[in-house]
Order: sequence, then C-alpha cells, then structure tokens
Amino acid sequence: MKTQIKKLLELQNIDLQIEALLVKEKEIPKQKEKLKIQEKKLRQEIEDSEKNHKKLVLEQRECERQITQLQEQIKKYNNQLLAVKKNEEYQALLKEIDDIKKQIGFKEEEQIKIMLQMDEANLFFLEAKKRIEAEIQQLKKQEEQIDKELQEVIEERKKLEQEKIEAQKSVNAELLSHYTRVKQRRKTGPVVVPLRDEICSGCFMQLLPQVVNEIMASEKIHTCRHCGRILYYAEALDEQEPVVIPKD
Ligand SMILES: [Zn+2]
Repeated sequence: MKTQIKKLLELQNIDLQIEALLVKEKEIPKQKEKLKIQEKKLRQEIEDSEKNHKKLVLEQRECERQITQLQEQIKKYNNQLLAVKKNEEYQALLKEIDDIKKQIGFKEEEQIKIMLQMDEANLFFLEAKKRIEAEIQQLKKQEEQIDKELQEVIEERKKLEQEKIEAQKSVNAELLSHYTRVKQRRKTGPVVVPLRDEICSGCFMQLLPQVVNEIMASEKIHTCRHCGRILYYAEALDEQEPVVIPKD
C-alpha cells in the first residue's frame, strides 16, 4: 500500500507541476498584451507629434497662398494706376495698395511665427521618434523574451505530460481511476493528502478513529468521506517496506 501511495504521490507531483505550468501559460500572454498596449501608446505619441507638425506645414502654406494672392492684387492695382485719369481714383487706389501691403506685413509676421513653431515641432517630432523607436525596440525584446519563456513552459509541460503517462502505469488501476475522478472534480490542488492528527489536511474535517487507525497502519487506502481526497500517513512512508526475500 505504501508503495502505491508513493507512486500516486509521484503522479500527483507531476500533475501539480503541470497545473502550475498551465497557469503560467495563461498568465504569460497577458504580459505581452500589456506590452502591446504600451507600444500602441508610443506609436500614437509619434503620430500625434507628426500630425502637429503637418498641421503647421498646412498653416504655413495657407499663409503663403494668401500673401501671393495679396501680391497679385497689388500688381492688378498697379496696372490700374497706369490707366487712371482722375486724381481721386489714383489716390484711392494708392490707399488700397497701402492697405494690402500692411496686410502682407501682418501675414508675413504670422508666417515667421508659424515657421518657428514648425522648426520646434519638427525637432520635437524627430526627438520623440528617435526616443520612442528605441523604447519600442526595447518592448520588442521583452516580447521576444516572453515568447521564449512561454515556449519553454509549453515544452516543459509536454515533457511532464509524457512523464505522467509513465507514472500512471505504475499506479493500481482502481486507485488511479479514483484519483482521476477526484482530480477532475476538484480541478486544482492536491487530492492525495496526509493525515494530520485525526484530521484530513485537504478539508480539515475530523476523521473516524477506525479510519485513522487503518490509514496509520497503511493497511487500506482510505478516502475522506467529506471531500473525497485520498488520505495517507506521511510518517509511514519514510519507513522501509518489509523486504521480501525471494526463495530459491
Ligand atoms: Zn477531506
């Protein structure tokens, strides 16, 4: 019986390791999700900074267009000046031209301001791009590390699943089917648990003295009538099994 419990504990040990690895397999991709979100934010930052620069470029072009238009207007008035006969009209046109020149002055000032902003925005964009690309590179490395880690965990689990098949072979069929049933029901945690005083260490319920005695004597495999876990007496496992001397 002791040997059977030992074999079952070996199997359980493998199962618990597999369980822990499956949890990791679920958790690891979440880390990657976080990195993806970070990366998205960084890319957005570059995009925003580029958009800001582009907006200023458009504003600058618009300014340029308006200045050209005003200059065209002056040319038109200058031509009209040549044809004007009356002094009043001549003076009126001169005033128009003067007003437009003032407008051009304002526009040019505006243009200079925009160009300065553009330079600043461009510098900011280039710096942000450089910094962010380096950060993204860093995130990619972390992602690769995570992929590698996940791969290792999967491989380790697969290896353990092979070991499990072997370990199952050495457990008594009836015991194995009971173990499997309880395991399926409980999903996580150990189902083969040591007796602690007169209590099941799985559910902490009191056991009957008769049952306790039988478990301690390692005579029979008992299950806890409260939680169904398989019980064993830990101290007995350390004792040597009686050696059977083969007869000649
Ligand atoms: Zn129990």
